[in-house]
Amino acid sequence: MGTDLMIEAVGLQKRYGDTQALAGVDFSVPAGTILGLLGPNGAGKTTAVRILTTLALPDGGRGAVAGIDVVRSPGEVRRHIGVAAQDATLDPLLTGRQNLVLVGELSDMGRAASRARAEELLDQFELTDAADRVLKGYSGGMRRRLDLAASLTTRPPVLFLDEPTTGLDPTSRQRVWQAIRELLEDGVTVLLTTQYLEEADALAHRIVVVDHGRVIADGTPLELKEASRSARLEVTLSTPHPGAVAALAPLVAGAVRVGEDGRRLSAGVDMASGLATAVVRALDAAGVLVDHIEVRQPSLDDVFFSLTGGHIEEEEEEAGFVDGSRHELEGAHA
Ligand code: ATP
Repeated sequence: MGTDLMIEAVGLQKRYGDTQALAGVDFSVPAGTILGLLGPNGAGKTTAVRILTTLALPDGGRGAVAGIDVVRSPGEVRRHIGVAAQDATLDPLLTGRQNLVLVGELSDMGRAASRARAEELLDQFELTDAADRVLKGYSGGMRRRLDLAASLTTRPPVLFLDEPTTGLDPTSRQRVWQAIRELLEDGVTVLLTTQYLEEADALAHRIVVVDHGRVIADGTPLELKEASRSARLEVTLSTPHPGAVAALAPLVAGAVRVGEDGRRLSAGVDMASGLATAVVRALDAAGVLVDHIEVRQPSLDDVFFSLTGGHIEEEEEEAGFVDGSRHELEGAHA
């Protein structure tokens, strides 16, 4: 096992009843880097974190932190890690300061050292002003910063952050991101799970995408974007036109989606020079008037969409997009 790999998962498997939560997952995190473990709900992210933090046992494969096997030496692993999980066990009736001191004492740091460390962390996470308020009065952003602070009490070299910004507003999210970036300067190694592509893109050196318990992509954010050659074509018509979808169909990959207003059309395309010209010509030949045309490079969202196919599609349909063929069918019946 390489010494500079601080976290390793090799063929991890875990089954809950009929659900194969992990079906052989591999990844590793070199010292001093952040790995983003990305995936939709139920992908297996939390299960992987629970195994690596010794809270669950794998059915197969192995995990190691700082070169220590998580099944054989869980106590030793726990001395090397900090965990900020979704179900963090801080006490809502204690103040921020009391919670941090308690975490230190429960980690056998002693009262004086625990108090000193709590003050440092309150200062580092800009929580000194709120230190004497009970936790249940904290905003979501303050709460997440306190979770993060608590996970750093013993200055662990390896940190597990399970969806650290879920539900936060953009400003609070930025502050948590900044706190995570500062940890890196201290040489901490981080495994971060998230459902937000933007978050993985902003923070992670490397991203592993999991879906249905399997790794479906692994690379730097740039590599993942480059691997997905597909771009998106977006066209806005002057007025809805029944021939627009048929005119576009030969030029695009997959279905053309039509917005509810009938004017916005979008489709995946393979990047090719002259594409925009060809699109305008085809629409013009069909007598379709175009207001706006855009060929967008893939974002990490597009990459995720093409990898996990379907999960984001559902959301897009809710946002007012329907499949082009179905739209035409409805039109034909009208
Ligand atoms: P989320 O983003 O919703 O937290 P996740 O990627 O963290 O999702 P997991 O929580 O690891 O996903 O869950 C993976 C699968 O295993 C899901 O289908 C989940 O319902 C199932 N699962 C997880 N824990 C248990 C458990 N204790 N008992 C039964 N099933 C479980």
